Order: sequence, then structure tokens, then C-alpha cells
Amino acid sequence: MSDNAVFDYIIVGAGSAGCVLANRLSEDPSVKVLLLEAGGRDWHPFIHMPAGLAKIANNKTINWDYSTTPQPQLNGRVVWWPRGKVLGGSSSINAMCYIRGVAGDYDGWAANGAQGWGWDDVLPYFKRAERNSRGADALHGADGPLSVSDPRNVNRLSEIFIEAGQQAGYARNDDFNGVRQDGVGLYQVTQIDGARCSTAVGYLNPVKSRPNLTIHTGALAERVIFDKQRANGVAYSAHGKPTQATATREVLLCGGAINSPQLLMLSGIGPADALRKLGIDVVADSANVGQNLQDHLDVCTLQHETQRTSYDRANELKTAFNYFLRGHQGPGTSNIAEGGGFIRSQLAPDERPDIQLHFIPAMIDDHGRHRIAGDGYTMHACNLRPRSRGELTLTSNRATDKPRIEPNYLGDPEGLDLRVMIECARISLDVFAQKAFDPYRGAPIFPAKATLSESELVDFVRMKAETVYHPVGTCRMGSDDASVVDPQLRVRGIEGLRVVDASVMPKLIGGNTNAPTIMIAERAADLIRGLV
Ligand SMILES: Cc1cc2nc3c(=O)[nH]c(=O)nc-3n(C[C@H](O)[C@H](O)[C@H](O)COP(=O)(O)OP(=O)(O)OC[C@H]3O[C@@H](n4cnc5c(N)ncnc54)[C@H](O)[C@@H]3O)c2cc1C
Repeated sequence: MSDNAVFDYIIVGAGSAGCVLANRLSEDPSVKVLLLEAGGRDWHPFIHMPAGLAKIANNKTINWDYSTTPQPQLNGRVVWWPRGKVLGGSSSINAMCYIRGVAGDYDGWAANGAQGWGWDDVLPYFKRAERNSRGADALHGADGPLSVSDPRNVNRLSEIFIEAGQQAGYARNDDFNGVRQDGVGLYQVTQIDGARCSTAVGYLNPVKSRPNLTIHTGALAERVIFDKQRANGVAYSAHGKPTQATATREVLLCGGAINSPQLLMLSGIGPADALRKLGIDVVADSANVGQNLQDHLDVCTLQHETQRTSYDRANELKTAFNYFLRGHQGPGTSNIAEGGGFIRSQLAPDERPDIQLHFIPAMIDDHGRHRIAGDGYTMHACNLRPRSRGELTLTSNRATDKPRIEPNYLGDPEGLDLRVMIECARISLDVFAQKAFDPYRGAPIFPAKATLSESELVDFVRMKAETVYHPVGTCRMGSDDASVVDPQLRVRGIEGLRVVDASVMPKLIGGNTNAPTIMIAERAADLIRGLV
């Protein structure tokens, strides 16, 4: 591509949101679109084989490999934050659980200033995105680019988890995106024919040969270029070579909840004093860029298992053979986080569930980076409604330097987030103690015993809590002047620049964040085209 080529739109980041925009905006053949992606192509077979996620999330060549600052409330531990750096972004390395949250999440956004983002406004976009193998109904779509399916392979332990959950008092739920969210069941997954359906697969592959769409990988956006207060291009390094491109209509930032605020600040949009200290020329003083950082904190309970039912010692060769040579069959199709649940604890602020479970028929400690010998199972339990807020700040004026990520886990002054995490651990132990697990239950691993005092539960949470990978909120959307983007996702004080990704969520939704991010991009495409 020639230097300073001219496009109508430049999209920065080919992740969950960016691939959606690339597809929708290039539907009009008269519109020229450039999609820049810092990572490479999604060629690795373990991206596409769902069970490969255990290996792929830790592969540094397709991962930004971020870490938080030491967290005072977690015994000073640094928390690892994987993020996809490849076509498809984090949708190429995620666990494929298809969850939207509940109507109240979006009605809450709208009531707090995100006009046009209430449940009735966003449901059509969830449906437009979705190709659910169960077919269409009032809440589901069946013709969209994002394939959603029931799991092809379910480990016996995941069924046991559902039985145990029912014995613990939670109803079975066969559709967490249906009329009610609460209960225990199996996740539907973003898969097509037993393979991962990232947004690169669902949205980009079918349109990548459009002559009006240019996809540039290995292209790290370093700065938005402005003519006064109007964004009109992007400076980027293409495999290390300084390059730039011009956008005659808009620049669209889709770098995710860490990289979009970072790029805004590198471009001179952010807290003016902090930017000047790093030698960055200020284009717009926007104090809240990088603020309002929220994440779902999660704690894993691990237990040995006595029947060799888990995936821990699955024969890798046989798994690969059945997957690659037998038309995507067997455990290779598993997203590993097969079972799940949504629970409303006594601490829930309203009628919505405040705790989410992911059940894993294998031992996952430290994101799978720490292998434990033998067989076992794991319960992830996270706080869906955190009160703590963190921030993201620059460490230098270079795009190649990682920003400082301070999630401020358990930092809420009332200590309510810690209490919810204690409930998370208590509920996990209670489900593991039910009759259904009797024939399988081996020795406890984390925590080291099945019954804990209150103070032991606190110690356990502080020692083991981790992210469940849902950072949002750092370019908050709202109607107030302090918000970073307005409800049309336009950056305040600037023309021709929007942010379209998980960073614009004003508040975390009650569930996983991939489908909501895709919904945001679907609706943004219509906003950009003037269709809503
Ligand atoms: C390990 C893991 C497991 C998860 N599991 C689930 C799950 O099961 N279900 C679910 O719903 N959600 C899950 N999530 C969360 C979900 O995947 C994310 O919320 C969602 O993908 C965020 O989308 P995004 O578009 O905001 O960012 P991303 O998808 O991360 O995309 C950002 C893209 O921009 C690129 N980029 C960034 N900066 C630049 C730059 N300067 N120049 C060029 N390119 C740039 C990145 O490389 C990346 O491709 C998981 C996430 C992770 C990491």
C-alpha cells in the first residue's frame, strides 16, 4: 500500500468490534475502508480448534500480555491480563461463552445518559449479529454473521455440575440469553461446525476480498492525525516502517478497553497536565480518558477428581485426530468452560444476578499457566457488579510501551466487593459439596479444605482472585460533559473520531463481554451510516 493512501474510514483494531465495522461499512462499494491490525493473521490452528484456547491464550505472539500494577487488596499480587493481538482480537483467544447480560443492564446505561442504548434499542442488534443454531425467536436471530451453537462435546463432569447446582437450589436454565438469566446450565458457544467463530471468521473472512476493503496486519497505530480539532488520518508503523493514511470521513478506534484510551492519550486527547508531562501536545483536555476502569474479579476453586473423567489427561493426539481428521468431533470442540450459572446473592443490589459461574472439567490454575498433576475440576465464580473503579494511564509517549493498568480490585470503600467474592467462594464450595459430586470428589486443592471460616475465605480470595477477562469502561459513553464519548460514540471536542469497542460501556454488563461488544459495533455501524 502506498504511503498516505486515502480512505473514507480508517478502523484501528480488527478485534470483536473492528471486524464488525469493517464488514458493515464496506457493504457500500462506493466507500473505501482501511482496517489496521497490530497483530498478524489468525493462521494458528489452535485459534480455531476450541480446546486450543488453553494453549493459545498464553501464546505471546498473539497476545498483548498485559499485567496490572501490584494489587494491595490481593496481597500485592500482579494480575495477568491477556488480550488478543491478531485478526479477531480477543474473540480469537476467548472462551466462546455466548452471553448478552440482562435487559436491566442496558436500561441502566440508557437511564444514566447513554440514550439509544436501552434494551429495546440494542436487542435488534444482538439479533442482527446472531446466527443461532436453535433458530430465530423473539429474543434470538438466525441469519447473522456470528454463529452461536450448542456444545458438540460435553464432559460428564459438566452434567454433574448442573445436577449439583440444582441440588444446591439453583434451577436448570437451558438459555442464559432467554427470558431469564438465573440458574445453572450449559453455555451456548460462538462456534461454527465445532470451530471457533471469532469476528475474523464470522465477519471478516466472508468479505475480505471486497475491493473497497483494505486489511493491513502488523500495523500498529501510533497516533491519530488532526487538522485542528478534526481527525483526518492515522500514523502507524507497518512492520516497523513509519506510515500514514488519510481518512476523509472518520477515524474509528476499536483497539479495546486498554489500547483505545492509550491511543487517545498518545494522540493528545486526555488529562492535559499528565499528557504535557510526557511531552504530548494536547488536542483536547479530557480528564476521564482511561478512568472508570471496571473488570469482573473472579476466584477459582479447584478439586481433585477420582474417576479420570476430566480433560486433564485427555490424549492430545487422539483429540487432535478426532478434531482435525474426523470433521471437528470430540473434546477438541470443547470451549472447556462448558457449564455455567447466574446467581443472585443476598448482596445483589437489585433483582439481577450478581455472581456468574464457569465450570471447567479440568484443573485451571493461574489461567492454565500452572499445571497440577492428576485429574480435577475447577469452578470460576465472579462478581458481576463490582463497585470498585480503576484507571489506565500512560507510562510514556510511545505506542510500543505498555500503559499502567490499575484496576483497583476490591478497592470500594464499603468493602462490598470483597464480601461478594467471599460469597463466590462459598457458593463454589457448596456446589462441590453436593451429592452429585460424591462419586467424583477427590482431595480439595484450592482452598486446601472444604469448609473455611470467614477469615480463611478472605485469605483465600486475596491469595487466588484473578481476572475473568472483561475490562471495560475506559472511554465511557454518556450525555454528561465528563464522559469521553457521546451516545453516538463521538469523542467529545473532536470531529471525525469515534471509539467503538468495550471501552465505551459505561458500566459492566452482567456476563461475558464479547457479544455485547459486537452489538455495540453493529449499532455503531448504523450510527456512522446515519441509519439511526
Ligand atoms: C482469555 C479471554 C477469555 C474470554 N472469554 C470470553 C467468553 O468466553 N465470552 C465472552 O463473551 N467474552 C470473553 N472474553 C472477553 C471478550 O473477548 C472481549 O470483551 C472482547 O473481545 C473485547 O472486544 P474489543 O473489540 O473491545 O477488543 P479486542 O477484541 O481485544 O480487539 C482489539 C483489537 O485491536 C488491536 N489493536 C489494539 N491496539 C492497536 C493499535 N494501536 N493499532 C492496531 N491495532 C490495535 C488488537 O490487536 C486487537 O485485535 C474473553 C477475553 C479473553 C482475553
